[in-house]
Amino acid sequence: MRLPVDPFAIADANEILYKENRSLASGISGCLMKVHGVFGIVYSTRFASEGFRRFTVAHELGHYFLDGHLRHLFGAGDCQHQSEVGFSSAIPIEREANAFAAALLMPKKLFRSASENAGLGLYAIEHMAALCQTSLTATAIRYATLTEKPVAVVCSTGQQIEFVVMSKALKAQHNLVKPRKGSSLPEDSLTSRWNRDRPNGNSVARRSACTVSLASWFDGTDATVQEEVAGLGESGRTLTVLSAESLPTHVPQAQSPSWKYAVRRSPYVKRSTTGHEPVGPSDS
Ligand SMILES: [Zn+2]
Repeated sequence: MRLPVDPFAIADANEILYKENRSLASGISGCLMKVHGVFGIVYSTRFASEGFRRFTVAHELGHYFLDGHLRHLFGAGDCQHQSEVGFSSAIPIEREANAFAAALLMPKKLFRSASENAGLGLYAIEHMAALCQTSLTATAIRYATLTEKPVAVVCSTGQQIEFVVMSKALKAQHNLVKPRKGSSLPEDSLTSRWNRDRPNGNSVARRSACTVSLASWFDGTDATVQEEVAGLGESGRTLTVLSAESLPTHVPQAQSPSWKYAVRRSPYVKRSTTGHEPVGPSDS
């Protein structure tokens, strides 16, 4: 197998029809349809991204191939299933189809070996997105899931965090607490300033980077990491990548929080309430 994987060729090989549609609702990425026993995939053209289209088709293929999905979706005589745009659905079959799509388009072994020499952080993610022909967001989530380096990927809109994905190496750091969905960005972070400066648009070509204290993003132990920010185009979302080649094995505890620090940390919650990790369809 070689990269990129072609989900359209897989649909062809299984006699599944596919077609773009310009009038799907804004929150719908695509549909799987069954008409007279023939399956077809419709994907939205709302986002002008090949990565979005490929992930959407791969997601619908997931519903076709995964055990129990067709029975669940079409068993009662329905002829259409609509899939929602987004990365953090709580619906089990949507999460399974998203995981299927990520694994299909970015196979673990190939992705790991190709990303090992691709640098670090946003640079590596952009390299892998070009290689796999996947969206920046879907690639970033896969990168954080598979890399052995300490990495966190954050998706935000305005001053609000939509989701955070931490790599295994970062999770292994003592006592780190992940910001939960819906909490505020650290107010002095590059990402917060970036989103304040771009209330009406977020060009995909724009990006920025700086070094930052890990403790400004996560309660717990501190270290210096790189914070990189990129616009995600039409979706209006922003991608943040926090990364380092490595972190100290025994890092000191963060300094006692000042009053201001404590107020800024207040939206953060304990590890057990952080919710689902996103594996969802692309939006850029
Ligand atoms: Zn779906």
